[in-house]
Amino acid sequence: MTVGVWILGDQLWTGQAALASCGNKKVPIILIESLQHVKAREYHKQKLVLVWSAMRHFAEELRQQGYDVTYKIADDFAQPLTEWVKENNINEVRVMAPADKPFLDIIKNLETLHVKSLQCCIKIIPNNHFLWTQEEFAQWAKGRKNLLMEYFYREGRKRFDILMEGDKPLGGNWNYDKDNRQPPKGKLYTPPAKWFETDAITQEVIDFVNSLTIPTYGELQDFRWGVTRAQALEVLDWFLHVRLANFGPFQDAMVVGEETMWHAMISPYLNIGLLHPLEVVQAAQKAFQENKLPLNSVEGFIRQVLGWREYMYGLYQHVGADYSEKNYFNHTEALPKFFWTGNTKMNCLHQVISQLLRIGYVHHIQRLMILSNFSLIAGFSPQQVESWFHTAFIDAYDWVMQTNVIGMGLFADGGILGSKPYASSANYINKMSNYCKGCAYDPKARTGEKACPFNFFYWDFLDRHRNKLEKQGRMSFILKNLDTMPEEELKAIRKLAREWHKKTKKYE
Ligand SMILES: Cc1cc2nc3c(=O)[nH]c(=O)nc-3n(C[C@H](O)[C@H](O)[C@H](O)COP(=O)(O)OP(=O)(O)OC[C@H]3O[C@@H](n4cnc5c(N)ncnc54)[C@H](O)[C@@H]3O)c2cc1C
Ligand code: SF4
Repeated sequence: MTVGVWILGDQLWTGQAALASCGNKKVPIILIESLQHVKAREYHKQKLVLVWSAMRHFAEELRQQGYDVTYKIADDFAQPLTEWVKENNINEVRVMAPADKPFLDIIKNLETLHVKSLQCCIKIIPNNHFLWTQEEFAQWAKGRKNLLMEYFYREGRKRFDILMEGDKPLGGNWNYDKDNRQPPKGKLYTPPAKWFETDAITQEVIDFVNSLTIPTYGELQDFRWGVTRAQALEVLDWFLHVRLANFGPFQDAMVVGEETMWHAMISPYLNIGLLHPLEVVQAAQKAFQENKLPLNSVEGFIRQVLGWREYMYGLYQHVGADYSEKNYFNHTEALPKFFWTGNTKMNCLHQVISQLLRIGYVHHIQRLMILSNFSLIAGFSPQQVESWFHTAFIDAYDWVMQTNVIGMGLFADGGILGSKPYASSANYINKMSNYCKGCAYDPKARTGEKACPFNFFYWDFLDRHRNKLEKQGRMSFILKNLDTMPEEELKAIRKLAREWHKKTKKYE
């Protein structure tokens, strides 16, 4: 029997399950850039370059290791795949199970419609790029009243023996967030980010993307992301030695002109297979032991990768197919045009979207407390918001988008993932950033000409959804504040919210 391996664009490492299943045998390999696939939605230009350049570099690496690699740029997957099967007399195509559910359907259709007629089958090998399998997550979730991340994370710490002292958490606590999340005060001496010069392969991809006529998002004047495993390891190493010590305290801070603060910037690499989550977590633990780094920073970072990342993937696989359609608050407003241009007088949104257009990345709190918070309180359709996030981010994939946007960001799942919505007024943004200093609006004003939209939308949101929010125990304190608001002020707030929607041009 002749076996061949099809490697998808987010599976770019030699330890991946389909290749590993062939042992050291130098089986034929195919990688396909499908233009049809990227026509399905607008993608950020930086993401197209990252994924295609990383695929081309990986193909070269495999060739150097002696593999017979076929690399195709084609309209769809079917034609190059069937040609390759025929030319190599392949009877079994092995592919690692894709992380994204829609791609599994694509593979199954390809087998039924094209590959089977060539007396060949497609064998799906379980994905080994996450630490918990679907079955293990289901086992953990079974019989639980709620699926909160914190308990899942603790299981992960024990299971992989990370920051443990026997069966107790190192230092006595599972979580050190009380020492983290400080506002940015005074001069912050942020370390530079690890960026890279483009090489000939990347330049070729940049020219190719620039020549495409399909709709895309964002800019491509300056592409500085790494595209190989060696570069991804450099970024990880840079983070562990230069940034991790201060990661915790300023994890949530946002500062104009500071693109990445102390964040790791590894999600683009983790999500295409250039880094493996276990090596990241173990490397952080090693750096903690060898360099005596602060536990609050190291634990905070490990919780992101061992906790949140695995949990988001596990939950995505666990929930039903209707999860993507959830809309707990029945929000239907269309996204405004400025999500595509950054042209808005709201300085926080202007800063964050402008950076996103430039590099396809903003950090977690900018995603959660600026972009999705505003989308939630202004009442944008969760499905449109999810689709926009998928468009705009360099690290976006279906598996990470659904639970983060529909669940965490918008509470559109009604609380499967979180115990209360991440909704906030300008107060939080004014405390955790310096955006409000350069803004046309007043972060303290709820009504009047200079009223900040985060304020009137926040109170309007609480007012509109009072009945549903009452059911979330953690909202009762804030709802009491709503009750003490004078009726006249509430009327003015409702009016401002309605008028904002009428005045703002929508992207439809
Ligand atoms: C609305 C919203 C949208 C998001 N969209 C994406 C996305 O498209 N792709 C993506 O990878 N992450 C997404 N996240 C999660 C998180 O914001 C990013 O992983 C993180 O900002 C990436 O930057 P970093 O590598 O510098 O992360 P750091 O802040 O340094 O964290 C380290 C790593 O932890 C992991 N991580 C942390 N939180 C999460 C999480 N909630 N879900 C999954 N992984 C997590 C990531 O792999 C990240 O690289 C989103 C979060 C929200 C609230
Ligand atoms: S005042 Fe409001 S809109 Fe302006 S930066 Fe602050 S939170 Fe954003």
